[in-house]
Amino acid sequence: MSDSEVIDPGPAEDDRQFDDQIRPQRFEDFPGQEPIKEKLGISIAAAKQRGEPLDHILLSGPPGLGKTTLAQILATEMGVDIKSTSGPVIERQVDLSSILTSLEEFDIFFIDEIHRLNHAVEETLYSAMEDFEVDILLGKGPTARSMKIGVKPFTLIGATTRAGLLTPPLRARFGDTCRFDFYSPEELETIILRSARILDVPTDVDGALEIASRSRGTARIANRLLRRVRDYAQVKGNGTIDQSTAQKALEMLGIDELGLDDMDKIILRTIMEKFGGGPVGLASLAVAIGEERQTLEEVHEPYLIQIGFMKRTQQGRVATPHAYKHVGLTPPKEDQGALF
Ligand code: ADP
Repeated sequence: MSDSEVIDPGPAEDDRQFDDQIRPQRFEDFPGQEPIKEKLGISIAAAKQRGEPLDHILLSGPPGLGKTTLAQILATEMGVDIKSTSGPVIERQVDLSSILTSLEEFDIFFIDEIHRLNHAVEETLYSAMEDFEVDILLGKGPTARSMKIGVKPFTLIGATTRAGLLTPPLRARFGDTCRFDFYSPEELETIILRSARILDVPTDVDGALEIASRSRGTARIANRLLRRVRDYAQVKGNGTIDQSTAQKALEMLGIDELGLDDMDKIILRTIMEKFGGGPVGLASLAVAIGEERQTLEEVHEPYLIQIGFMKRTQQGRVATPHAYKHVGLTPPKEDQGALF
C-alpha cells in the first residue's frame, strides 16, 4: 500500500460510484465554504471577461472537505477540461512534461497532495507555471541536451492537506490560496439532504441533522454515514431515515454524538492513560497506538483540535479537560481548574 493510500484512503470502489453520483457539478450545489466560493466566483468572472485562464490556485485543508470537487466545479464553471493526478504519482520530469504538453488552452491541471511532489518534478513545474514552458531532455548520457518547449496557458490547481510542507518557491507561484474550513452541522445537513434526494432515500430534516452532527465537520464522512444509515433503515426500519433510526444506526457503528469513532477515543485514552494527559510527541503516540503518524496528524488530529479536545504544544500533544470529561476520566489535578 502506498503512503497516499495510508494517509487518506479516499473512496473505495463502490464508494467511488456513489461519489460520482452525488458529486456537485456547480457552485449552487456546493453548500458551505462561502468565502472561498465568493472569492473564486469573482476570479472566474474576471478571467472570463479578460479572456485569460484562471490564476494558479492552492486549495488546502483536511481530507474530505471538497478540494477535488471544487477543482472540478471550477473547470465546469470556466467551461474547460480538467486533468487530474497526484503528487506521488508523478515520478519523473518526463511524466509531468507529457501531461503539461497535452493540455489545451485554459485547461485545469489538478494535482492532489501537491506537497508530495519530488524535487526534480517540482522544479519543472516552476517554469511551466510562470512562463508556460518546460525543459525537455533530448538524448541520453553526455550528448544529452535540453530544449525548452512551450505549453498552452493553463491553470494549476494544487490541493494539499499539509500547506505547511509546501516549499516557499512553489507556494509563491500560486496567485490564490484557499483554506477549507470544517462544515457546520447545518451545512452538512444540506449536503446530506441533497445526497439523499439523488439516492432516492426518504430522509427527514431531523434524521439528516443527526447524521450531520456526527460527521466531524466533513462532507465525505457525512455522505459515508448516510450510506450506512440507509442500509440500517432498509434492513431494520421502514427505509426512511428519521432521527431515531439515524441515532440507532450511528450508535451501532460506534460513532458517538460528537462524531468521534473508536480510533479517536483510543488516541485520547492513550494520551490520558499512558502519557498522563501529555504532552506526548506524535511519534511516541503513533507507536503506542499502532497507527501511521501521518494518519494521526492529517486525519484524526485536526478535528480533535477543532472541537477543543486536544492541544498541540511545542512539547507535544495534550488532552484537554473537555476530552477527559467526554471519555469519562478524571483529569490530573492541575488541569481540573480549567474545566470546573
Ligand atoms: P477532498 O478533495 O478535500 O479530500 P472531495 O472533493 O473528494 O474532498 O470530497 C469528498 C466527498 O464529499 C465527495 O463525495 C464530494 O462530492 C463531497 N463533498 C465535498 N464537499 C461538498 C460540498 N460542499 N457539498 C456537497 N458535497 C461535497
